[in-house]
Amino acid sequence: MSEEDEMIYRGRITFDVPVPLSVLDPETARQLTFFPVVPLYADSPEGRALAGVRGADEENGWAPTSIWYSSLGRLEAIARRHGRVLEPEATFDSDQRGRGRLVVDAGGRFHDCQEDEQPQRHYTRACSCFPTSAGSPTLFAVADVTADERITVRAVQAGPFTDYPVVCADHGDVACPTSEKEAVFRREAHIIEAHTARPLPLGRSGAEQALPPVVLGHLRAAADELRRGRSYAAPLAIAHRDAAREHARQAADELRCLSPSDPTETLLHLVAELLADTRPDA
Ligand SMILES: [Zn+2]
Ligand SMILES: [Zn+2]
Repeated sequence: MSEEDEMIYRGRITFDVPVPLSVLDPETARQLTFFPVVPLYADSPEGRALAGVRGADEENGWAPTSIWYSSLGRLEAIARRHGRVLEPEATFDSDQRGRGRLVVDAGGRFHDCQEDEQPQRHYTRACSCFPTSAGSPTLFAVADVTADERITVRAVQAGPFTDYPVVCADHGDVACPTSEKEAVFRREAHIIEAHTARPLPLGRSGAEQALPPVVLGHLRAAADELRRGRSYAAPLAIAHRDAAREHARQAADELRCLSPSDPTETLLHLVAELLADTRPDA
């Protein structure tokens, strides 16, 4: 993997109307107080308000592109949520992508407009700033969509464009892609990241902690039988393999009795069944 691009935005990015801190999600506001942006505050009828941000100083404002983009994404989310218009007066300088200025399209999204480019193609999204799966069927492909009502994908009008916010009942805003396909992909990624009951018991110690002792006993016995079976020629090993499978089946039965509905137990159950199918020479 190549080293990540470093870049800097110089100048200011403000909202048309400052957003009072009293209505702003505190965590979002806090994240905009960190390098490489400096928050700009103003007075408003509702008290202190976030007017926008400015880039850090020339000497220390260079940061990985992903860090800058996450700050810009937070500003977009605030503008979307509170009905503000973003007004950037900022130029960018990037090791890999050269120089230009920051512009906002008619749907409230930031674009890096290169020095020699017409901003118009960004305003209308006739550019290539957003990843699209049009040229790559595998990009954002999801074979199985998880049924989980807590995490929703909606279509929301944003100027002449459509946004696809992914919102979780437990975790709030997850992402807001510009295509439905990417939104479904981000939803699945969030489910794997934040809604997996317990990590898979990878490795011996994880499995030993996760498995009930009675089940673990059977699995250990199965493993012993398989080990013994390897010392014999295949026909003689059959008895050991069968004994191993019997232990694995009992382990699966124990799991089924202990908790038939818990997803983690179901998973462990599957592990036990896989062991039941393991051959000594596998
Ligand atoms: Zn663009
Ligand atoms: Zn969630």
